[in-house]
Amino acid sequence: NVVVVGSANMDLVVTAPTLPGPGETVLGDAFTTVPGGKGANQAVAVARAGGRCSFIGAVGDDSFAAALRDNMVASGVDVSLLRSVEGPSGVALIAVDRAAENLIVVAPGANAALTTLDKADRTAIGAASVLLAQLEIPVGTVIQAAAAAHAVGTTVMLNAAPARPLPVELLQVLDVLVVNQGEAEVLAGRPASPHDLLDLVPRVVMTLGSRGVAYADRDGVRLHIEAPRVTAVDTTAAGDAFTGALAVALAEGRPIDEALAWACAAGAVCAQRFGASSSLPTRDEIDELAQR
Ligand code: ADP
Repeated sequence: NVVVVGSANMDLVVTAPTLPGPGETVLGDAFTTVPGGKGANQAVAVARAGGRCSFIGAVGDDSFAAALRDNMVASGVDVSLLRSVEGPSGVALIAVDRAAENLIVVAPGANAALTTLDKADRTAIGAASVLLAQLEIPVGTVIQAAAAAHAVGTTVMLNAAPARPLPVELLQVLDVLVVNQGEAEVLAGRPASPHDLLDLVPRVVMTLGSRGVAYADRDGVRLHIEAPRVTAVDTTAAGDAFTGALAVALAEGRPIDEALAWACAAGAVCAQRFGASSSLPTRDEIDELAQR
């Protein structure tokens, strides 16, 4: 099973013919609210991919809190470790134009209040095969969770998004790093291959969009796995689908080449559909594309 520690946000999305510049107002068209946040998305991705998943995170005391909680429950995520704190839930204000260019402002809200782990969190982390974290909550909390996992032999997987330099206390306890090309460049200080990041972390997974994924580890394994050829219409959440599925496959003890190919199939299914968390694939859908 997998424990995810991370963010939950409500995405407030409006489409508009053009995006406003500073001081400008434009009239938009459709408005939607969509549960998001990399933590919640990856927890949903794990559960839909067939993994048992428990989510450690925080929502506020506003009207978005119940919707964020219910969305995870609906996909089978265990939310018994989800906190409710005073104040607003995390929100992302997103404007999208007709060319799919976007403007995003995130207000972390309750996610910023997730500063300490308690005994129940540590027990869950200790009982898990894989701990999966991202960087949309305070990094000190990620370090606490990763250190607790490392101490008992739970595999520590970090999706280093949004990109930022990583403190040495975190690097010391990481097993698997998952990054896209932009995130790898931030960590390495220059365009980098997975191999270039092995001085930081023992196992590095780099997603390459439609080109699939590259992998390197300190045992000398180097892999490049092609993505399944699909007609991509919206790659939003493809990275979350990939990362969640990879966590499930590693928790199941599947060999790395098979795990990466299966995770690529998850990302590809997601890319074929419009939507963010709603487009995360089920296990059957992943299996079907992976066997093709
Ligand atoms: P991110 O959105 O985090 O930058 P990527 O765009 O690299 O992540 O996508 C994550 C994974 O999803 C890729 O490694 C690939 O397996 C799959 N994927 C993304 N876009 C496509 C696509 N156009 N065709 C097939 N697979 C895709």
